[in-house]
Amino acid sequence: MHIKELVLDGFKSFGRKTRIPFYEDFTVVTGPNGSGKSNIIDGVLFALGLARTRGIRAEKLTDLIYNPGHADDSEGGGGTKEASVTVVLDNGDGKLDRSQVVNAAGSDDVGDVSEIRVKRRVKETDDNYYSYYYLNGRSCNLSDIQDLLAQAGITPEGYNVVMQGDVTEIINMTPYQRRGIIDEIAGVAEFDAKKEDAFGE
Ligand code: ATP
Ligand code: MG
Repeated sequence: MHIKELVLDGFKSFGRKTRIPFYEDFTVVTGPNGSGKSNIIDGVLFALGLARTRGIRAEKLTDLIYNPGHADDSEGGGGTKEASVTVVLDNGDGKLDRSQVVNAAGSDDVGDVSEIRVKRRVKETDDNYYSYYYLNGRSCNLSDIQDLLAQAGITPEGYNVVMQGDVTEIINMTPYQRRGIIDEIAGVAEFDAKKEDAFGE
C-alpha cells in the first residue's frame, strides 16, 4: 500500500487546493528553501493523525490553517478559516478488504475501496476550533482510522515516516531497543503487548 495522492487545501502554505501525486516506487520533492516541501510531509502526518502538533511544527492546530500574512505574523484575511488534507492510499492490492473499511467507517457507503481516502479537516471559529476525520467520505474518529491503518501496517511507531533525527537515534540505540523497532515493523510487538496484558490478568 502506498500514498497515491495528497490533496492540501488551506493547509499551511497551500492557500489554494493543491493535488500532489505520489508514485509507487519513488517520489522526490525538490524546491527552494521555504517553498513548502516539509509542509507536504506535515500534511501527511496531520491527516493520518501520526504526529502531535510539535511533530508538524505548529504550536496549536489552528496554526496549520493557511494564513496569507504568515511571514510577517499579521492576521489572515478573515473569511472561513479552514484547512484540510486528504491522503489517498492505493489499496489496489486489496491489503485492506471491504469489511475492514466498512467497519472502520461505520457505514456501508464507502464507495470503491481500491482507494482509501483519509481526510482531516480543522476549522476555526471566533472562539473555538474543531477537528474532523473522514474515511472514504464518512465522518469518523481518529481511533477508527488509526485502527484501520494499523491493519495495513501504518502506525505512529512504525517508521512509515522517518523524521529528521530518527536515523541518528536508531544508531545510538542499544541492540535490544533496535530489536524493538524490528518487532514493531514486523507486527510482532502488538502480540507481545497482548501477551503481557494476558499474563497481567
Ligand atoms: P527548507 O528547504 O528550508 O526545509 P521547505 O521547502 O521544507 O524549506 P517548509 O518548511 O515546508 O519549507 O515551508 C515553510 C514556509 O511555509 C514558510 O514560508 C512559512 O511562512 C510557510 N507557512 C507555514 N505555515 C503557514 C501558514 N499557516 N500559512 C501560510 N504560510 C505558512
Ligand atoms: Mg524543509
